[in-house]
Parts: sequence; C-alpha cells; structure tokens
Amino acid sequence: MTNRSSAHHTFLATSIAASVCFWIAISPAFAQQSAPRDPTEPQQGQPHPKLLPHPAAAIARQSVDEKSMRALIEQLVSCGTRLSLSSWTDPKRGIGCGRDHIVARLNEIAKESGGKLQIVVDKFEATSERTAGKPVPLESVYAILPGSDPKLAKTLFIVSGHYDSRPSDVMSTEADAPGADDDASGVSVSVESARLLSKAAASGKGGYRATLLFAAIPGEEQGLLGGYRLLEWAKQQGYTIGGMLDDDIVGDDPSPGAPHRVRLFSGNGEIDDCDSPGRELARAIEEIDGRENVRMIFRADRYGRGGDHYPFYKAGLPAVRFTEPLEDYSHQHQTPRTENGIEYGDFAKYLNASFLGDVARDNAEALRQLAMAPAPPTNARLTGAVTPDAKVFWSAEEDPERAGFEILWRETTEPRWQVYDFAASPGETVLRGVSTDNHFFAVRAVGKNGARSIAVPTEIERRPPPLPAGTKQ
Ligand SMILES: [Zn+2]
Repeated sequence: MTNRSSAHHTFLATSIAASVCFWIAISPAFAQQSAPRDPTEPQQGQPHPKLLPHPAAAIARQSVDEKSMRALIEQLVSCGTRLSLSSWTDPKRGIGCGRDHIVARLNEIAKESGGKLQIVVDKFEATSERTAGKPVPLESVYAILPGSDPKLAKTLFIVSGHYDSRPSDVMSTEADAPGADDDASGVSVSVESARLLSKAAASGKGGYRATLLFAAIPGEEQGLLGGYRLLEWAKQQGYTIGGMLDDDIVGDDPSPGAPHRVRLFSGNGEIDDCDSPGRELARAIEEIDGRENVRMIFRADRYGRGGDHYPFYKAGLPAVRFTEPLEDYSHQHQTPRTENGIEYGDFAKYLNASFLGDVARDNAEALRQLAMAPAPPTNARLTGAVTPDAKVFWSAEEDPERAGFEILWRETTEPRWQVYDFAASPGETVLRGVSTDNHFFAVRAVGKNGARSIAVPTEIERRPPPLPAGTKQ
C-alpha cells in the first residue's frame, strides 16, 4: 500500500458542469471550498505546507499466513462449543479447549519472535444477566509486544477478537456453537497480527514506540464481559489506550463482486460539533489502509448489536469495530441444524480465507503505523469566535522523534480531514481569514518517520444561549 492521503480528496465540484475544468486544475485542498457561490476562505489563499510522506507499508499481503489462520479457526471450532459458561478444564470440549489452542499458537509465535512477545492469561470473574446473575470464572489471553520508547511504552494499541461462541440459546452449554465467523475469525486476525508484527520487530522493521496488545477474550456473548475486563486490566496496569481495534465477524464475503471492503464502525460521541476519538481512529485507519480496503461506517455498531469496542467507546477512548461487508444471519448465533432446507450454523466452510487475510493485513499495518507515531497532541482548542480568524491551540510533551504537527480542517459535511497547515512546535496558530464557523478543525502529531497520531478535534468554549426561566437544561 502506498501513501494515498493526497489522492483521496473528494472533488465535490466535479458535478458542477460549468466549473469542472477550473476545479480539476486546482490543488485538491481547494475542493474544501465546495461551491463557487461560497466565499473563498481564506481570501488570500491557503498555506501550502510541505508534508512528510507516510511510512512505506511494511506488512505485505502475501506475508499473511492464511493457512495458519484457518488452522486456528478449525481448532477452535473443534471444541464443539466455546460458550463462556462451558467447561474451562475439559481439553476436548468447551471454552477451556479454545483457550488452550490460542495459548499454544501464541507460544509458537512468541518463540519465533526472539522472546519479545509476552503471553498473559488474565483470570477473572464477572456477572451478568447472561451468567444467571452469578459470578463465573473467565480467562482472557493477551500477547504483549512492549514499545521501545520509554514514554510511549505505557500507551497501548489493542487488537481484539472474542473466542467465546454461542448457540441459539445463549445459556445452553450443551448445544454445539462452532463460532467460526463469530468470532474465531477475529481471534485469528488478532493472533496473526501478533505474528506479523512480532516478526517485523524481530527483524528490526518494527520501530513500535508504543506497546501492542493482541487479545483473545471471552464473555462477549454473555454481555461484553471480556471487553469490560480488558479495559479495567489495561487501566490497572497503568496503560493509556492509544487505540482499540475490535475484530468481530470478519471472516466472510459471500456476496457477488467480492472482494468487498471490510466495514469499520465508529460512533459519533456525545459532544456537539466534535467527533469521538473512535471516529478519529477510524479515519486514521482508513488513511493508512486506503479507501479501497476500508469502508468507514459512521455508527457505533450495527443496528441492535454490540461488541467489545463498546466499553472503550463509552469511556471516551478511541475504539472501532471491523466487521465483514454483509452478514449472513443464518450463520450467526445459531445452533447447527437444517430447517426448511436452510442450513444454520457458524461453520468454517463458509469462511473466505482471502478476505480474512486482507483483514489481517489491514489490522496489522494500521497497528504498526499507529504504534510508530508520536503521542497525539492534548488540549486542542479553537478560539476566535466572532472574529475574522480561527485560532488553533494545542499542547504536547517534548518528543525528539516528532517532526511537528499538522493542522487539519474539513467542511462540516465532509467525512475526512485535510491538512491545512504544518507547525513545528506546539502552541497557537492563527488561521488568517478562516472562519471558526464553516469548518471543523483538528491537530495531529507527525513523527520524523512520517507516522501520524490520530487527530484530536479542537474543543470549543461552550456558550449555550440563555434559557427561558424555568427551562431545564
Ligand atoms: Zn461476536
């Protein structure tokens, strides 16, 4: 994959026939001024900063080991059920069997990584409606690749899949629940990312400043129990969450015209005029992996569904969900059976190894570049309301590996940021002749290696209009 950031700008104006030639001839940044009838902003023209190229992609698609991913999925399916309430001690049937296969595979990978990858089994208890209100024992598997930068090593980028599964009855430990797509597929992406990235680290091509965590967690079907625990565990260990990539149902792409893009869900957040950190993480991933590979969907999850990114998202942290392009519900959460000629059940035979491999590559490359990046700026603020100039302020700690900061803007209706300007150091930049009202603004840090942090949207001073007497806010 190459740096596509500059190739991605949308020429909204190409539909305006009379202006086509004018718009195509002009630099993509000007596409922000979407229609000739809007005032030009700024009137004197925009700055043209020299931008550092993004890092060259290092995770080649052909380096993905589809065969081993498939083998792990089949081992997990062979456990019969991996319901979180099933046996943790039977090596042949139940969720403990699933844990054993994952730990064994990660140990193989750790051996090849020259001892860099650390495997942790985190045992805990959790309770929910779907544990019948009783605490049940659960075990999460984490593989950790420590970051090289003393300051950034406490920042964690997570990729996670859930290894529990469920039949139609979410409380039945007896029924089979193969769970190949939901979510042995996501587990295989997490584990393969561990292999790809620890291999790159062992061969000196890592350069991860932040720490990477490859998770396989239980309890998702009983109420995101492993997701909540992962967040709690990370906090207890003193980590800051740099980003959380949840891969859940990423193994199939059966509709005509395949391959299609993997969907990447991110929630809006709860602040007016300011997208969530998850949305910014989604934009960063799309920029790294390319629009032709990732389909951003601006909603927290599929309608009526949830996933392990949700606890992180609700905590205001950057978290997103990868899911296959179009789901087949007869293969999800279904006890295997045939009814009226329809075969139900989440079997490995429905999976598409090539699609799954694409998802693994996209996760691994995104994690790699995010872990190479400087810390995102903090305290980003926009001032200058009711003046002709927008003023963008931000803070950042010292970082000798950082080249500077990109000031980003976008039309309020545009899904993606564009770079407006570059600044070498933190502080305030005045965008002369730019209205505070017609665009959104953000700042991100750029490493000397070209890796970008996720963007931090500028916070604005909230000045709600005065309320009529007796009105509740
Ligand atoms: Zn799932």
